[in-house]
Amino acid sequence: MTDIKQRVAAVTGAGGGIGLGIAERLARAGYQVIAMDRDAKVNEAVAILSAEGLKVQAVVLDVADEAAVKKAVADIDAQHGRLDVLVNNAGIHPKVNGERNSFMKMTTAQWNEVLGVNLTSAFVLCREVAPLMKRQRWGRIINMSSRAGRTLVDTAGIHYAAAKAGMIGMTRVIAAEVAADGITANCIAPGRIVSPMTDQGSAEQRAMLVGRIPVRRIGTPDEIGHVVQFLASEDAGYLTGTVIDVNGGTFMC
Ligand code: NAD
Repeated sequence: MTDIKQRVAAVTGAGGGIGLGIAERLARAGYQVIAMDRDAKVNEAVAILSAEGLKVQAVVLDVADEAAVKKAVADIDAQHGRLDVLVNNAGIHPKVNGERNSFMKMTTAQWNEVLGVNLTSAFVLCREVAPLMKRQRWGRIINMSSRAGRTLVDTAGIHYAAAKAGMIGMTRVIAAEVAADGITANCIAPGRIVSPMTDQGSAEQRAMLVGRIPVRRIGTPDEIGHVVQFLASEDAGYLTGTVIDVNGGTFMC
């Protein structure tokens, strides 16, 4: 069994929000973490964690840029010779025409942008990383879906809902194909989590949203990090092709 301290984990969208929570969790557990984000703020976030002695490395890249993704995976292989955990977390949720997300007002360009960042990038990363994991006969792929990929969420646009539901179908197919190679692939479907993506609206609107969550609070990035840590562990080897809902009970309502 490989010591966690030798394991390498790549997390996309790790410059802030949930991704940074995941990167920090894994780094504190002993992983060498590659924190990827298109925003250079990832350098600052990594500098803070590195100052504590954690093994975190920043890579500024747009996950929708296939050539940049291929180069990043090749660089990880060249530098570390392995990649044990891939967390496809980067995501966007732009408003449609600044108002309620009617699909009838959505342009194809808006649709393509969200599908490109939220779904296609994850497909490309899984495809590029799987041969490394197969080579070491061990790997953990963790894809960030959403409650909006599981059920109707009235604030989610059609592009976002389609990408997050697509993530679940895609993960199942990957899980089946690589299961015999010691690689698992699973999704996490968060409900509302504190992050810049959700830090919007008035105090009244937020209170109303919290009132709809059975546990009566918004989740934290570290709580998602905790589930990632479990899915990445040796003990989670019998868990594949599934979705873990982390939403304070909202999905059951
Ligand atoms: P966030 O906006 O706070 O963070 C997303 C990060 O991804 C940012 O640092 C951003 O720079 C990065 N990013 C965006 N596009 C990128 C690209 N093309 N290439 C590289 N990096 C890119 O969002 P968050 O709330 O932390 O969400 C993280 C993930 O969790 C997303 O996939 C989101 O859809 C999902 N999610 C979030 C919530 C929530 O309540 N916060 C709920 C369900 C699902």
